Amino acid sequence: MNAYDEEAEINFSVGRRFLNGNGVEKDIAKAKELLSQAAAMGHTMAQQLLDTIKDEPTQKSDEQIEEKDPLTEMLEYNRRFVAEKRYEQYATSKYPDRKIAIVTCMDTRLVQLLPAALGIKNGDVKIIKNAGGTITNPFDSTVRSLLVAIYELGVNEVMIIGHTTCGVQGMDGAEMLDLMRKRGIDEEHISLMKHCGIDLESWLHGFDNTDEAVLETVDLVRIHPLVPKDIIVKGYIMDSVTGELTPIG
Ligand SMILES: [Zn+2]
Repeated sequence: MNAYDEEAEINFSVGRRFLNGNGVEKDIAKAKELLSQAAAMGHTMAQQLLDTIKDEPTQKSDEQIEEKDPLTEMLEYNRRFVAEKRYEQYATSKYPDRKIAIVTCMDTRLVQLLPAALGIKNGDVKIIKNAGGTITNPFDSTVRSLLVAIYELGVNEVMIIGHTTCGVQGMDGAEMLDLMRKRGIDEEHISLMKHCGIDLESWLHGFDNTDEAVLETVDLVRIHPLVPKDIIVKGYIMDSVTGELTPIG
């Protein structure tokens, strides 16, 4: 390979890296420049690649930058987070300092609001989340988590926190089954489960009244045969906008 070919090969391979963002930050303009140089030197593959990308915009518009895949963004953030040792301020143990477990809803409005509104920091409490923040079955995974929190991690108080305008209030099981059918879930599977005695509609059904659902959950935990009698269980409703917490039982 003479020097000329070698330079063309280098331009081609570096250009391709910029095109795909392979090991370097993706840069279409640079890719085009390098591939054009290689093509001008008679590199046929560079020319072919150049032909396939000639319509690609060279400048990223603001809109394109915003459209960055959220997961990629999170992974990039994570690398910076660890590299900058920002985790140091969160150092704690698995035992909750306040000896409290909170059962609450997975609602996105509460992700930061709930800990902020209650002054909870890392290491303070156990937070168990599900859709609605309530328990409908005495042996579901939320109860299992509570038992772990009580017996293994020293929790002695349980807060059940529902919240205003919860999406699970008024959720319709039949409607969700229809959505499943539309997304391609086989009717056969649905009826098979029904034949096996699984009441899918009521399993998927939400609650009609958040306060009542929270109070029922409080009772369920209080009288649960595996929950020790000295565990304090109380119900609350959090305002999804202001974070105000109202005790309800
Ligand atoms: Zn909710």
